[in-house]
Parts: sequence; C-alpha cells; structure tokens
Amino acid sequence: MTAWMAEGPIALSAEDRIGAMVQADEVVVRLGDAGVSMVALCWVDNAGVTRAKAVPLSRFDRAAGWGVGMSPVFDVFLIDDSITASRYIGGPGGDLRLVPDLHRVVPLTAQPGWAFAPVDRYTQEGRHYLGCQRNFARRMADRAAGLGLQAQVSFEIEWAVGTEDEGTFVPACQGPAYGMARVVELSDYGREIVFALEREGIAVEQFHPEYADGQMEVSVAPTDPVGAADDSVLVRQTIRAVSQQFGYQVSFAPSVVAGYVGNGGHVHLSLWREGKNLLSGGPGRYGLTADGEAFAAGILSELPALIAIGAPSVASYVRLVPSHWAGVYQCWGRENREAALRLVTGSSGEQDLRANLEIKCFDLAANPYLVVGSLLATGLAGLPVGGSLPDEISGDPADLAEDELAERGIVRLPLSLGEAADAFAANEVLREAMGDPLFEAVLAVRRGEAELFAGVSHDEVVARTRWRW
Ligand code: GLU
Ligand code: MG
Repeated sequence: MTAWMAEGPIALSAEDRIGAMVQADEVVVRLGDAGVSMVALCWVDNAGVTRAKAVPLSRFDRAAGWGVGMSPVFDVFLIDDSITASRYIGGPGGDLRLVPDLHRVVPLTAQPGWAFAPVDRYTQEGRHYLGCQRNFARRMADRAAGLGLQAQVSFEIEWAVGTEDEGTFVPACQGPAYGMARVVELSDYGREIVFALEREGIAVEQFHPEYADGQMEVSVAPTDPVGAADDSVLVRQTIRAVSQQFGYQVSFAPSVVAGYVGNGGHVHLSLWREGKNLLSGGPGRYGLTADGEAFAAGILSELPALIAIGAPSVASYVRLVPSHWAGVYQCWGRENREAALRLVTGSSGEQDLRANLEIKCFDLAANPYLVVGSLLATGLAGLPVGGSLPDEISGDPADLAEDELAERGIVRLPLSLGEAADAFAANEVLREAMGDPLFEAVLAVRRGEAELFAGVSHDEVVARTRWRW
C-alpha cells in the first residue's frame, strides 16, 4: 500500500461491517423474492466508463461487509482501455474494496435475474479511498449540508439508437426530429424503456425523440446529488439492456456522427436552504437570491476548467460546436439554449419548485459523480465571494461579430480536450475539493486521451468512441 492510501480515519469499522452484513441479509431476501441471483457492483472511472464486478446473491452479504477486490489502476484507464499513470494512482500494486451501497440496490428489470448496486471504494483497512469519485460527490454534498444547503440535481439522458453497418451508424427510426413518426416507429421500444425505468424506481418525467438521426431522450426527476449520479448510471444501463432486447445498439457518445448534433448530458441543478429554492423568490434578476446568484456565478466563472469534467473526451469537442444547442460560450441566459449556463425559471405558480440552472455544455462521457461534486465545489466556492452574474445573453452568441463578443465579455469555452485539461490543471478550487490523488488521476486521463487522439480526424475519433460509453 502506498503511503497516501493510509490517509484519513477508518471509515468502516469492524462493527460497521457486521452491521452492513446484517442489513444485507434483508436486502438478499428482497432480491431473492424478486428473482435476482446476481448483483452487478458498479462504479464509474475517470474516462466515464461504468465498470462492474458481479457477485452471486449468496455472496452479497459478504460483499456488503467486506467488499470485493479491485485494483485502483482503473482510475487511469483511458477510453480505449489503454492505461496511463498519474502521480499517485497507477501501476499494478494495491487493492481496493468495492462496497455496495445497500440503499441503492435495485433489481434490473431489463436484465432478469440481475440487480444493480453502486459502490463506494475503500482501502483494505476500511479508509475512504481518496480516488473514489462517489465519495467525492458525497463529500461535496456534505460540504453544502455543513452550510445548511441542499442541492437537487438531475441529468438529461440523450442517446442514439440503431445499428452499425461497415462503420456507418444506421438509425433505428427514420422519422423527423421530435416527430411523432419516431414515436410510432419505436413505440414498443419507448414504452419498454419507460416501463423498465419506472419499475426500477426511476421517476421518469419525459421521453421524447430528439433532433439527430435515431436520437431519443429521457428526463428524470431531480434528487440529491449522489442519487442523481446513481440514477444517471442506472438509466443508461437500463436503456442499453432494453435496446439490446430489440436488437439495437445504443450510443451515449458525445458525437455519434461527426458534424451532426451530438448527445448532451445536460445537468439541472438547484440549491436550497430550509426548504426554499435559492434560485427563486429573491430580489435579483428573475427572482434569484443573492446566494443563488453567487452560486451560479461560481459555476459560470469556473466553466473553462469544469468542462474538463463535464466534457471529458476528445469526442466531446467534436460535439461542442456553436449553434448546436450544446452551449459552447461561457455566458448565461434565461431559457437560452446556446448559453453554457441556462437559467430555467419554471412557469408562474411553480417557480419556487422548478427554478434551476442547466449546464448545457456537458455530455454523457462524463463521470456523473465527478460532475455533481465539481459543480457543487465551484458553486459553493462562489458563496463567500458573493459574486454576481454578468449581463445576460439572449440569442445565439455565434451570431455576434468577434468585436461584439469581446465587448460583451463572451468567451468561447475550450476548443479541445488539451485546452480544457490546461484550464483544469490550473484550477485550485477543484484541486482542493477533489484532493490531489483524484485530481491528478483525472488530469492524467485527460492528457492521456488528448495524446491518444492527437492528429486523428473527427470521423475517426467518433468511429473509435461511438460505442464506448
Ligand atoms: N443534443 C444537444 C446537445 O448536444 C441538446 C439538445 C437539447 O437542447 O436538448 O447537447
Ligand atoms: Mg435534449
């Protein structure tokens, strides 16, 4: 074990482990009644890939107490499964324990006999592993709670459904964007997806055909930050399983066909104090409270670094082009789908419930735990500064001439993963929040992927990553 892995107090004591095993016995009975015989223990690496180790139900109680072994090296895996190294994490040594969160174990309705359990990763001694992305998300939610604040988060899930023929994506439907024709063509498929998600306890708010060929979208209700990240993983794996039953492949990649509208992974975020939404009912623009605005300003100001978390792959920058509703300019606007930060106020009568910030420039190559943790870290860092938002931008910034953009202080977000990695590397807010081992591992993966695809055409980047997430 390297020295840094021995940092921090013991988080899983012997009593905790016995308690978890006892609690797991009840979960095992429930899962057995639901016909489950295998449990997939899942986590997401820094390249955005959901990794899994599965245990038979008969071993689940043991996994709940003692975890299942796994090397830390996955935190420096690149999207093609090649391996880089970072200052702290990497190499063949060391072992971690994957410990399932018993509150989130759910039978997978599209994979009969299987259940899903997100894990937290601990050292063999029972300390929190400093590279654990889920623990980072929880620490940031706890940081907010320490200030009397709670966040509500949801991820929009966009995907392209189809097959591949000699390297070309073939959509599963022909109908137009947002068209009812697509709903007719894929009516069994769409219904099965929503039904499967609802039986898994996911509160689906909408299912709709999206803009690009074969593109669909599901939106789910907001919940706590870690829960929303878990939902994002569960929703995508369920969509994948249902798609497979229909003979389709599914792509959550930022770009499915280079040059066309890609898949976003927009994040909706609101901040609450004592049951009151801080993005509504205040004296500021559109009812923002001072703290709500400072939180939004904290995020907006750090977007060039945050994008290394939310748009983490080389393929992300194939998607991030102007006038594609991907929000590539560092600006904000009420209901402006070309602003990286869209303020959603909600309709009259429910603004206090619905007002939220939408981060448009993020995609689903992102690790959702890193996303929620990083957004909270930068938003909360804005509170003591008491910052305010700059002038609102309405309309598409791409329609403005260079000098007007400059005059209004509208900056294009990083154009490449390399640029985003440089902004991230210099960001002290995120370094402090993540801690060095996690921060350095993320940075190494970003730099490794930038190098992996250096000089590679957009078409080839897309072809090599289309089915990876
Ligand atoms: N597919 C677009 C993207 O790449 C987003 C479309 C929308 O606004 O929902 O983010
Ligand atoms: Mg959409």
